Amino acid sequence: MYEANVTDIDVAGLHQGYLKGIRRRSGTIATGEAVFSLLHQKRVWEVKTKHQIYRAKTIVNAAGAWADEIGTLAGAQRIGLVPMRCTGIIIDAPGGLDLAASPAVDFATSGAYIKPDAGKLMASPGDATPTTPQDVRPEELDIAHLAHWIETETLIPVRRISHSWAGLRSFVADEAPVVGFDRHIPDFLWLAAQRGYGIMMAPALAKLAADLLLKRAIDQAGFDVDAISPARHGISKPL
Ligand SMILES: Cc1cc2nc3c(=O)[nH]c(=O)nc-3n(C[C@H](O)[C@H](O)[C@H](O)COP(=O)(O)OP(=O)(O)OC[C@H]3O[C@@H](n4cnc5c(N)ncnc54)[C@H](O)[C@@H]3O)c2cc1C
Repeated sequence: MYEANVTDIDVAGLHQGYLKGIRRRSGTIATGEAVFSLLHQKRVWEVKTKHQIYRAKTIVNAAGAWADEIGTLAGAQRIGLVPMRCTGIIIDAPGGLDLAASPAVDFATSGAYIKPDAGKLMASPGDATPTTPQDVRPEELDIAHLAHWIETETLIPVRRISHSWAGLRSFVADEAPVVGFDRHIPDFLWLAAQRGYGIMMAPALAKLAADLLLKRAIDQAGFDVDAISPARHGISKPL
């Protein structure tokens, strides 16, 4: 099946745009500040890191694979988030291939895909190995399987892997994202469980979160707020 008009997102450019947006609105970005304590007293959250104590009316828990850990610090019930390791590699494209005109190729029988990426090819088996929240690294065996798979399933020779990495995609049992205020913990909003779509969904989910935070009417058609609420039924059953 060929789908025309598919485009790629410049993820680094998108992130830089978000960072600029925060700074333009006088927001502060503090990195290297792992939160280890969250206390809610007199309607104020006290957030402790090694270097600082921050105070805020509302917490947005957008801690990715660590969202359940942050929820636990706040005293919330876990949502049953499972981080899954996913591997990617960059390989040289075969000579004579017009990369600018090449499509992204998804394989219908698996989550695997190959796509042009800055003059080379990026490939992923779309693997999903359950793990714990961590700065995950690619496993040699996963890379070897991926290279073998490319060579057997396509005509692309894998001569050199110029880069490999792994990251986490986080799932809850029903595989929908989790966006909304916690049912029991006041002023605590979840924004988690975006699986392999957190970049693509970021503008829409952030807009929804902003509408919820500012108690505005939700003005995006097609959003079933109950289906992605942290209060929905069966959210925390094991995957
Ligand atoms: C190989 C691979 C390919 C992918 N491809 C796509 C794709 O094509 N399209 C797409 O849309 N998505 C894709 N994804 C998924 C996407 O990357 C994720 O959905 C997205 O990054 C999740 O964003 P997040 O902000 O929720 O989590 P993260 O980006 O993980 O951010 C969470 C942040 O919270 C911080 N944090 C955690 N604990 C603490 C603490 N105690 N104190 C302070 N900070 C803390 C972490 O340091 C981190 O910076 C892919 C993922 C992988 C691994």
